[in-house]
Amino acid sequence: MKAWAIEKISNISKTQNFLNLIELEDPVPSKNEIIIKVYACGICHTEIDEIEGRVLPSFFPIIPGHQIVGEVVEVGKEVTRFKVGDRAGAGWIYSCCEKCEYCKRGLENLCLNFKATGKDAHGGYAEYFKIKETFAFHLPKTFSYEELAPLFCAGAIGYRAIKLASPKDEQNIGLVGFGASAHLILKLIKALFPFSKIFVFTRDPEKRKFALDLGAFWAGDIEEEPPKKLHCAIDTTPVWKPPLAVLKFLVPGGRLVINAIRKENKDKEAFLSLDYSQDLWLEKEIKSVANVTRKDIMEFLKLAETFNIKPKVKIYPFEKAEQAIKDIKEKKIKGANVLKIVK
Ligand SMILES: [Zn+2]
Ligand SMILES: [Zn+2]
Repeated sequence: MKAWAIEKISNISKTQNFLNLIELEDPVPSKNEIIIKVYACGICHTEIDEIEGRVLPSFFPIIPGHQIVGEVVEVGKEVTRFKVGDRAGAGWIYSCCEKCEYCKRGLENLCLNFKATGKDAHGGYAEYFKIKETFAFHLPKTFSYEELAPLFCAGAIGYRAIKLASPKDEQNIGLVGFGASAHLILKLIKALFPFSKIFVFTRDPEKRKFALDLGAFWAGDIEEEPPKKLHCAIDTTPVWKPPLAVLKFLVPGGRLVINAIRKENKDKEAFLSLDYSQDLWLEKEIKSVANVTRKDIMEFLKLAETFNIKPKVKIYPFEKAEQAIKDIKEKKIKGANVLKIVK
């Protein structure tokens, strides 16, 4: 099969071939695995971090991509949940130990043996993808493959962030940054908390307009003071300054949830300049979101179907994988980028 692979760490802006098109044996399922013929794979900011070495893949060359949807073409002999011809998908969770205290408590995202798709196992920038059947998901029928792919990371992890922020209806909710994940978070908040007001903070005037078009109550620049105090805020940026600037706008007891796999070090001093009395006093909280559980993905797919939450997508052909990643790095996107793989 053909696949795009990361062979070494490189700087996307300075390197011609930061991905390599490789040819490898088609995957063969073991007794409890399925093979998915990949029709579409979402492109995530995490791929940029993997290529540039801020998030380290377990091995090279590795096939990236963790928002995978397609059709089951082969099943292992003990597989019971899927049959050939089913539509199936997979997300960031490739496997976990299923035995430790976290796994038993439904916190498989915190398992020390958590394996991530496209980072610790080959992902979906490929014609075929292999995964244990219990970590694959059936797909809602009313969505196209391209619409489904971004639901598996941008959507499902965004949903986990909302659960951790735990707003109540009518409360004011902030979104810091407005990329692929945040635009799905906004749609989901509007469905689940119809009386809440959403406040979006982003430097990009076009994204502010996009947020208002999608129903945000207010959209402003980073550090701009919103017209109301916020009960919680969800940050999806890779940097420190924007989320920390929002702390002073939180109500007492308000919570900032950081939905980012890592933060760039360049504005680390923003953290040191936190003002305790203004930013944290009165029981304000900062909490991170790590990975995703199978339950998050299952619940989110169901909600997406119930409320018809579809991402705005830009589709790139398989050959244009590098362009699709570059466009995210250069912030030339509105919504989510998706690689279309099957011809
Ligand atoms: Zn992702
Ligand atoms: Zn575990």
